Amino acid sequence: MTTPLPHPVYVIGGGPGGLAVAAALTRRGVRTVVLERADAVGASWRRHYDRLRLHTTRRLSALPGLKMPRSFGRWVARADVVRYLERYAEVHDLEIVTGVEVDRVERTPQDAEEPPTWTLYATGGRRLVASAVVVATGFNHTPRIPEWPGAEAYARTAGRELLHAAAYRTPKPYAARDVLVVGVGNTGAEIAADLAEGGAARVRLAVRTAPYIVRRSTLGWPSQRSGILARRLPVALVDAGARLAGRFLAADLSRYGMARPTGGLYARARAGAIPVQDVGLVAAVRAGRVEPVGAVTGFEDGEVLLADGSRIAPDAVIAATGYRRALEALVGHLGVLDERGRPAVRGARCAGEAPGIYFQGFTNPLSGMLRELGLDAERIARRIARTREREKRHARKKAGAKEAGVKEARGEGTRERGQAPKTARA
Ligand SMILES: Cc1cc2nc3c(=O)[nH]c(=O)nc-3n(C[C@H](O)[C@H](O)[C@H](O)COP(=O)(O)OP(=O)(O)OC[C@H]3O[C@@H](n4cnc5c(N)ncnc54)[C@H](O)[C@@H]3O)c2cc1C
Repeated sequence: MTTPLPHPVYVIGGGPGGLAVAAALTRRGVRTVVLERADAVGASWRRHYDRLRLHTTRRLSALPGLKMPRSFGRWVARADVVRYLERYAEVHDLEIVTGVEVDRVERTPQDAEEPPTWTLYATGGRRLVASAVVVATGFNHTPRIPEWPGAEAYARTAGRELLHAAAYRTPKPYAARDVLVVGVGNTGAEIAADLAEGGAARVRLAVRTAPYIVRRSTLGWPSQRSGILARRLPVALVDAGARLAGRFLAADLSRYGMARPTGGLYARARAGAIPVQDVGLVAAVRAGRVEPVGAVTGFEDGEVLLADGSRIAPDAVIAATGYRRALEALVGHLGVLDERGRPAVRGARCAGEAPGIYFQGFTNPLSGMLRELGLDAERIARRIARTREREKRHARKKAGAKEAGVKEARGEGTRERGQAPKTARA
């Protein structure tokens, strides 16, 4: 007797996280379909600013099952990341449907005895039934600009421009202009340096909370490796070590208007504020080509209001103020998100209310996100493959019992004719 084929696993999102899970599942013989809303994989890497290179090393950024070629160099360029992701999908022969956006996931109404399945509501009225769903829609999903008073009017003012860093590509449109970059995470720091090197007349950087700024590597030792080691140690110990090392390794820009950071480096990283890897900011600040200023509090009469009470009048404001996960509409109703709108569980774990819904890529670890995406992909795939085996065994048993019941009802019995019953004796 044959048991029906299980529904496929659907992975929502064809970024590195989604592709890595799909590859790990495909290797285990689980039919997996990636749904990507853009027209190609690696959509977020196609959109990032031109100058971007990975700040994690080539070796520690490769996804499971395909190395990055040596020709990419140690710090891989954005365009090479895109090439790598395309090749990754090809090598693993992944089933990918592009141009499909999933709007909502619902539990499929069904017999309580059956393993749960999930219905995905997607572009063009599609309804797709999944045995499991991996949500890999990205930590950096929807650009977030704070609700600054006066921001809308400012953006409409002639000669003024307000944009999110997600829309920034190159310094060219800002040549000879006065620009304010808001936010000093990795993106804000790099865009400020890019503008300063790319011919902007003046670059200011609005800093609300002073970051730890570390070298990308010291004497050949990448700071990512320290991040990997730190994950195994107690927070207080790492913070003490970082304080000590920081005297020699972290940049001190307090003379230039950027206060020294407070709080432990690792404690802050665990709360989401990972250190800034220096790829030009420190030199630009020291040379006076990027000027740190206070946090932005609002906009008025075409000017920007700063926390210290001053007003400045840049031509353009680039808000490097982060992203939202934007998972509420997709899965918020399933009780799987915490109060900040982030998945309450990650990796191979599922929330009790939603067995079979997995989340990939919703952390921002010191050890490098691409590396963690690879590790979590294997964990998720292992769990899904095991669950599937268990369900198959259960289905076979059920089908066997049903067949035996039918035979018995027909008076055929479950034994071959003339065969003595098997009895177990101690
Ligand atoms: C500027 C920048 C630099 C980074 N540098 C590094 C680095 O050096 N090293 C490192 O380890 N990490 C780095 N990261 C972090 C991380 O590795 C990347 O953000 C990575 O792309 C995350 O992969 P992902 O698959 O989780 O998300 P994404 O790459 O964002 O992919 C999500 C995909 O889901 C699709 N999608 C979203 N919603 C839907 C939907 N509803 N239906 C269908 N498809 C959908 C999107 O179109 C997208 O293709 C960086 C991040 C940024 C923003």
